[in-house]
Amino acid sequence: MTSFETLGIRAEILRALGELGFEKPTPVQEKTIPHLLAGDGDMVALAQTGTGKTAAFGIPLLERLEPQQRQVQALVLAPTRELCVQIAKDLKHFSSYLPGVGVVAVYGGASIRDQITGIRRGANVVVATPGRLIDLLEREALSLAAVRTVVLDEADEMLNMGFVEDITTILQHTPPEKRTWLFSATMGPDVRRIAMQYMHDAQEVSVGGGNKANADITHQYAVVMARDRYIALKRFVDADPAMFAIIFCRTKQETQELAEHLTKDGYNADALHGDLSQQQRDRVMARYRARNLQLLVATDVAARGIDVSNITHVVHFDLPGEVESYTHRSGRTGRAGKTGISLSIIGVRDVQKVRSLEHRLKVHFAYVKVPDGPEIVERQLLTFIGRIKNAPVDPETMGRYLAAVELDLADLSREELVQRLVALELGKFLKRYKDARDLNVDLAGKDRKPRPERTAPEADRPRFERPAGPMRSMFISLGTKDGFDKGRMLGYLCGITGLTGQHFGRILLKDAYSFIDIAADRFDEVISHFGAANYKGRKVRVDEGGGATGARDFKQVKKTFNKARKHA
Ligand code: AMP
Repeated sequence: MTSFETLGIRAEILRALGELGFEKPTPVQEKTIPHLLAGDGDMVALAQTGTGKTAAFGIPLLERLEPQQRQVQALVLAPTRELCVQIAKDLKHFSSYLPGVGVVAVYGGASIRDQITGIRRGANVVVATPGRLIDLLEREALSLAAVRTVVLDEADEMLNMGFVEDITTILQHTPPEKRTWLFSATMGPDVRRIAMQYMHDAQEVSVGGGNKANADITHQYAVVMARDRYIALKRFVDADPAMFAIIFCRTKQETQELAEHLTKDGYNADALHGDLSQQQRDRVMARYRARNLQLLVATDVAARGIDVSNITHVVHFDLPGEVESYTHRSGRTGRAGKTGISLSIIGVRDVQKVRSLEHRLKVHFAYVKVPDGPEIVERQLLTFIGRIKNAPVDPETMGRYLAAVELDLADLSREELVQRLVALELGKFLKRYKDARDLNVDLAGKDRKPRPERTAPEADRPRFERPAGPMRSMFISLGTKDGFDKGRMLGYLCGITGLTGQHFGRILLKDAYSFIDIAADRFDEVISHFGAANYKGRKVRVDEGGGATGARDFKQVKKTFNKARKHA
């Protein structure tokens, strides 16, 4: 049995833990503490509140501290005031026998002066909400230049509350060599993006046993014209350079053809199906296991039992006929504590099948758009920059060549050099996606009646047919910041509810939230569909709203919303 002693924690902290009644580590502590104590790396941990995650990061954070130094060495960011207070309290408890540790909690809605005094008294650990920390940085009330450890606690909630820019700014104030540990209950694309952008070779840890395994899989679907599924698939692959996927087709022939098309188009793909000899199958699997193959295209039968770790995506190029097959397919990802995406690229006719899977499996399928050209180029660029930054450089072996290279490139300015690097790396994608069309099908438009010619300017008229009869307004915690425009919002609503465009009226989009008018007789039904809804891993909140047209109520809601953010 693992004890705190065997994890290598120092005596002073062990004594404090003993007094707190912590007898043995919880699973998340058992998984993270040894890593965080031993290694110097970053970490992404999937853990819910209540699992003991505060001690999981708190103990290693205190171990890394040099108590005699009075600068801020550890920074914990958390979404709410309550959580900040709780974390600070726990850290104080854990360090009660460690002289020199000064923990200060800073958060909105309390006197900033008192907090500044606390920091000036020599705090070396700061627990903060992002908003208040930015405020303190702007007042130059604290410096993050000596920070060695940053913890992003409940990262999904912080992103949910619109703190992404604040987090980015804060991280920019910290030294590049610091360690970043991210804790999150869910691992949506936004959290993953932060992890990719600001963390290096992060170790991934997940807790939650038994039937929780499926919670590590995010189910997504994109809707295109059936004939566009192949182009859509390529876009998803291009948009995610780290993708290591298994792509499912229904027949051996489709499997073989898809793999051949992909290979012809320059992708690293191969097929796995029953018409191959055992030897051929073994060869394909060996390449895939060694990650010399990025995309494995397979039939359900051939892929049964495949246990390859770190598969990031299961792609359903054809939806399976049976619910069980969907579960088997999806289970190829999200293994051994890792998270994964199960993505269905479907034609319009299969939307009902997704609804039915959703209903029968009791999981939410998030509607995602096929990435467009700029998005793909941007993601490639981001990865390229990451690769440059993390490229292992060995001056000893490179030294003798570098002088000649530098001489050869001496005439190029830094700007020209950067331009050429980007052109070399991204030229292919810039060209491929120069005039790429939107592949997404507007689900709402499908059932819309043809309308008479427009006479007034576009902006003066509602974009969609409005339902006749009484309406009620719904507040939803998604807005333009999440990439929505009116068409996309309508598509999303139709996707979640299974209703068509004519049940929705005016849509008022704001950055972090929106109001939607809904036919009154459908209102409760619409709300009920959002019970477990999440968008890109974030919980979506809905409520009765002030009215897309009711400006006064709307101002009131906005005020409440802003207040809630400030206080956080
Ligand atoms: P947390 O997820 O950090 O909020 O922790 C949830 C609760 O579990 C808190 O009340 C902690 O004090 C408690 N706790 C954390 N780790 C342990 C442990 N190893 N043994 C007993 N209780 C613990």
